[in-house]
Amino acid sequence: MRVYKVVRCPRCGFLQLTTASRSVRCFGCGLSWSLEPDSILFSSKDLEVARNFLLRLKRGESIGFKKASEAD
Ligand SMILES: [Zn+2]
Repeated sequence: MRVYKVVRCPRCGFLQLTTASRSVRCFGCGLSWSLEPDSILFSSKDLEVARNFLLRLKRGESIGFKKASEAD
């Protein structure tokens, strides 16, 4: 079963999706780094869910933190 992970490069901070389980090659700086639990921000078996998370992260939305000031 393929799991999509949202990861952050330890060198440049670039955010990307990967299905790798051991090492990731950063699209931002080209570094190949080994995947550790700490560097996985999110994982899902659903590509759309993972992609949406990544997009929101890139837009600067804080995920997992409730914004008390933000109400409809
Ligand atoms: Zn990088």
